[in-house]
Amino acid sequence: MGYLFGPVLSRRLGLSMGVDLLRHKTCNLDCIYCELGRTDCLTCGRGRFVPPQKVLGEIREKRNEPFDYLTFAGSGEPTLSQDLGRVVAFAKETVSRPVAVITNSTLLTSPAIRKEVAAADIVLPSLDAASPAAFQAINRPDPGLKIEEIIQGLKEFRREYSGEIWLEVMLVAGINDHEADLIARAAESTEPDRIQLNTVVRTPAEPVRPLSEEEMVRMLEIFPGAELIPDWDWRVPFDIRNRILDSLCRSPSTLEEICRLHDLTDSDAIKYCKILEHDGLITRRIEGGKLCFLGSKSRGRG
Ligand code: SF4
Repeated sequence: MGYLFGPVLSRRLGLSMGVDLLRHKTCNLDCIYCELGRTDCLTCGRGRFVPPQKVLGEIREKRNEPFDYLTFAGSGEPTLSQDLGRVVAFAKETVSRPVAVITNSTLLTSPAIRKEVAAADIVLPSLDAASPAAFQAINRPDPGLKIEEIIQGLKEFRREYSGEIWLEVMLVAGINDHEADLIARAAESTEPDRIQLNTVVRTPAEPVRPLSEEEMVRMLEIFPGAELIPDWDWRVPFDIRNRILDSLCRSPSTLEEICRLHDLTDSDAIKYCKILEHDGLITRRIEGGKLCFLGSKSRGRG
């Protein structure tokens, strides 16, 4: 069984090599928008879910593969793994690329866990509520968790950590958007480097309603300085699609080359490659230590 996955094309982190220290859906939240489905194991107790030696071995094995970030994420909440601190510390010594931790913020109330997470170069916590009622509605937490304490934990973390913090806020229509003001004030009080607003554009397991593009743009007035991360237009424009496919059928290219050749931003190149790869029109291989994309042999032009 593999504990590293990817690299995945991530709009927030570019080429992200994931590290999963958990068994499927081990979390202390049961978010209504979770793409992994309902939480099988709702727990606040830390534990060992995978053999740490094997994870360390895989990190060593894959340390020279092409990726921009080694990212602790995966089948649930990474801070629930009692091995997180040790594995992050090992990754920092072994891998020359930055180490990222994606967390739901709940256990940053613990000074010991904050210290483990603080060994990473960049931390991507989330905060979807500022009141107990909205916390219950959107995150369906383990009963021991209190939203005021979590916000306080994020503030403490900011005081102790000098690396980058990119705070994600997931907004769901009719569930937490009515308290956007309150969430914005709470998010700002935790002083992250970036606030990234999201909504449920990818299909979660449960029927929840995303905010529209117009509603999300209006949210920027409530969260001044925040960024929008969802992508409503999940298509590759026809001419760009053909240009990328033509060039990748002639010769493989890295993401940077695709950006340069077709005059694309990083995030558009990532999005287009993700779509074309998903549609089976391009594949990937490693050449000279770099991840390259190449056109599949048979492809339609539609
Ligand atoms: S914190 Fe993440 S893994 Fe846990 S339920 Fe929420 S979205 Fe899913």
